Amino acid sequence: MRKLEDAYLHKGLRRQLVELLKTKGITDAAVLEAINTIPRHFFLDSAFDKIAYEDRAFPIAANQTISQPYTVAYQTQLLQIKPGDKVLEIGTGSMYQTTILAAMGAKVYTIERQIELSNKTSGYLFKDKFPEVHFFFGDGFEGLPEIAPFDKILITAAAPNVPEKLWQQLKLGGLMVIPVDESETAQRMLRLTKKKDGKEKRESFEEFSFVPMLTGKSEK
Ligand code: SAH
Repeated sequence: MRKLEDAYLHKGLRRQLVELLKTKGITDAAVLEAINTIPRHFFLDSAFDKIAYEDRAFPIAANQTISQPYTVAYQTQLLQIKPGDKVLEIGTGSMYQTTILAAMGAKVYTIERQIELSNKTSGYLFKDKFPEVHFFFGDGFEGLPEIAPFDKILITAAAPNVPEKLWQQLKLGGLMVIPVDESETAQRMLRLTKKKDGKEKRESFEEFSFVPMLTGKSEK
């Protein structure tokens, strides 16, 4: 495995990224601090080392992508993460978003459906630093009923709708952040609150573009 180094250059680029995210409307200090702390280039192929802190999505294995930093920051801010929150993430991908949540003190349960990506989680670089991160290979539409309920649920792929099973696995008072298909290429970011009486409060935010949330597992 290549030697991973977090050089002054990377730290400087991260600070610039944080400033950019502030101008784009990210205000949650804990989110900005996590972005400033976690080396995004560790989650990318070394070919991307110099551009890892541009506010762009990049390809990872299995034809998937690491989300754009703005998207990661936006979704995380909507989740209002507090230390100790039990969070379900659908779409582990590069493990970058997972690590941002962990850096904010969340206990993270994250599911990936692509075996190639899931296999990489055994080499998770922050295993010792964040022992409260748990990886699962499976279909995120099913969630993790054996571990539910969750304080927060985050979907990081384009969902066709709000999966009923995931809604069931949200605590009363909990939040779900989910990009739901609005057209073939765009999703509307939604935040659903499960009110104390179990009813849904739905808030609508900006449009984004994610890779699709697919059913079943991919074993090749
Ligand atoms: N959070 C990731 C984003 C990766 S892109 C990151 O920060 O890098 C979305 C990911 O969701 C892809 O890896 C894709 O394989 C995964 N995915 C899509 N549908 C899924 C499902 N039903 N269950 C679990 N993962 C899914």
